[in-house]
Amino acid sequence: MTMNRRTALTIGALGAAAGLIGAPRAALAQAPATGAPATGAPAPIANTSAYRFRVGDATVTAIHDGVAYRPLEGFIKNATVDELKATLAESFLPTDRYAIPFTTLVVQTGGKLVLLDTGLGEFGPPTAGLWMANFRAAGFDPAQVDTVVISHFHGDHIGGLRRRDGTAVFARAEIKVPAAEWDFWMDDAKAAAAPDAAKPGFANARRVFSPMANDVTRYQWGQEVSPGITAVNAAGHTPGHTAFAIASGSGKLLVMSDTTNNPQVFARNPDWAAVFDQDADAARLTRHKLLDMAASERMQVSFYHAPFPATGFIARDGANRYRMVPANWSAA
Ligand SMILES: [Zn+2]
Repeated sequence: MTMNRRTALTIGALGAAAGLIGAPRAALAQAPATGAPATGAPAPIANTSAYRFRVGDATVTAIHDGVAYRPLEGFIKNATVDELKATLAESFLPTDRYAIPFTTLVVQTGGKLVLLDTGLGEFGPPTAGLWMANFRAAGFDPAQVDTVVISHFHGDHIGGLRRRDGTAVFARAEIKVPAAEWDFWMDDAKAAAAPDAAKPGFANARRVFSPMANDVTRYQWGQEVSPGITAVNAAGHTPGHTAFAIASGSGKLLVMSDTTNNPQVFARNPDWAAVFDQDADAARLTRHKLLDMAASERMQVSFYHAPFPATGFIARDGANRYRMVPANWSAA
């Protein structure tokens, strides 16, 4: 078969799209302004990973930061690698390694510009670190941010608050964190007693928060963290892990944070315990509770680790299983 020009263009465009989240930052910087390379790794399309949608009168913008990869081995504490591979195949995901995409939300409601988590900032793998470029491409400036609300203290959620040189990224923003999360990660006795694998997490929380400790607002579950955004107890993944309910007019969005890692895997298998879940039993209870609520109320949801734009709905899929249905994607 001879490949005509149209076929070649289509394949080129698909290749570029497929490379969007996988290509290193260096490749992004070198990406041509238009078109796709004829040979070599597909170039990502710069500054296309922001997606804006309405929740009532609130405007929500999903900002993609990139992706990290990890081996399948050791990722699920209570399932075999073959079981994980079978679920990945069922979801049309790569089966040779596990991809973890990162997507934060910017919420404009109640006259405020609010970030829910920050991405990895300058501390991610080469396949992440796109957040600031995408944030600016979406028309925002870090100096405009009124409030940064943190779901929990893992590095992929707080890394963007402070640069390597120690300066704050959102200079005039109020920083709000879950009180239970602060009490755990900023406790010196707990840091000293932590196993070696957990020590970098404690050190990172101190790097980010110690310089502003007196200015950080600690919120409780059930409180509004900004007008129209309520903190929801989602403990388990970490002691203070928090989901958010955004309500505006008749619109509602349940921001699941890390209640699941990729929902294409964990909505199907809500009893699976990812290695990152600090209290696997509590995380499992939270996962069932919030997935069940989202399915029963047909609420729109967003996940931090779902494929971009990381928003959709939760459908029941047999007994005790769910699946994520992507929201209708439209640039309009
Ligand atoms: Zn995370």
